[in-house]
Amino acid sequence: MNVANSRLKPIPLSDRAAGDTLIELRNLSLTFRSDHGQVRALQNVSFQVHRNEFISLIGPSGCGKSTVINMVAGFETPTAGRIMLGGSVIDGPGGDRGVVFQEESLYPWLTLRENVEFGLRLRGVHRAERREAANHYLELVDLSHSGNAFPDQLSGGMKQRGAIARALANEPRMLLMDEPFGALDILTRETLQDVVLRIWLDTRKTILFVTHSIEESVLLADRILVFTGRPGRLAETLDVDLGRPRSRGDRSFVELTDRLRSMLLGDVRRMEMGLDGERAPPSH
Ligand code: ADP
Ligand code: MG
Repeated sequence: MNVANSRLKPIPLSDRAAGDTLIELRNLSLTFRSDHGQVRALQNVSFQVHRNEFISLIGPSGCGKSTVINMVAGFETPTAGRIMLGGSVIDGPGGDRGVVFQEESLYPWLTLRENVEFGLRLRGVHRAERREAANHYLELVDLSHSGNAFPDQLSGGMKQRGAIARALANEPRMLLMDEPFGALDILTRETLQDVVLRIWLDTRKTILFVTHSIEESVLLADRILVFTGRPGRLAETLDVDLGRPRSRGDRSFVELTDRLRSMLLGDVRRMEMGLDGERAPPSH
């Protein structure tokens, strides 16, 4: 058990070279403007993501988590600031970022296997190679035997695993996951958490993972970015210095979830009391 645990320890931050930054968000703001007025979705958000890091984003509904994901994905353009990926400014979507959303995203008219091969086909990858990649990624998400099924023949959890396989098949530099298990029942959700953890341990793919589950973020992430609402800001960063796999019952696990819960509850209360308007970010 100890041997297994030590093999699964997170890469300590101190071991990472300074040049190991994959993504950097610098002073990012986004204000949505419409006929009905404007919404300051994010204000002055800065953080870095290191190669191989598993980062989770958590915060109350409407605090800009999806906006962060959409900007890193290149679907939204910041009003101010910029995002660098491997030293280049992101100015649109690209195959170097794989995205998995909460809602179903597999094409219903394609089989699961065809869905997984879709991006490779677009890139003109040869049939045999596509097949090999699909086999590999379907196996990684425990769907080896379902390749010929259509999405409507799959359960919600299987569809999300399929969406993960499809994103990975394009061999992106990072995965962006926006509440990927938010619509699933709790048992399915826990199975999928195991799958994501196993994939991360296998591939050490850099992952930016939005969740509103406190436990999920402590279970999976190296680092948790806590966002606060209206306008969305990065309020706190929490390092999760626990080995993997993590056990929900462990004292250190419970302590971290308690800490995170009180941070978030404090924030929600402030929002309900209308005190959130121009609140300064916490000083620690
Ligand atoms: P979260 O994912 O944390 O729930 P979002 O990033 O979806 O939050 O939204 C942040 C804020 O921006 C919310 O107040 C939301 O209503 C607003 N918002 C998001 N997308 C749009 C849009 N396309 N147009 C106008 N307002 C938007
Ligand atoms: Mg969202």
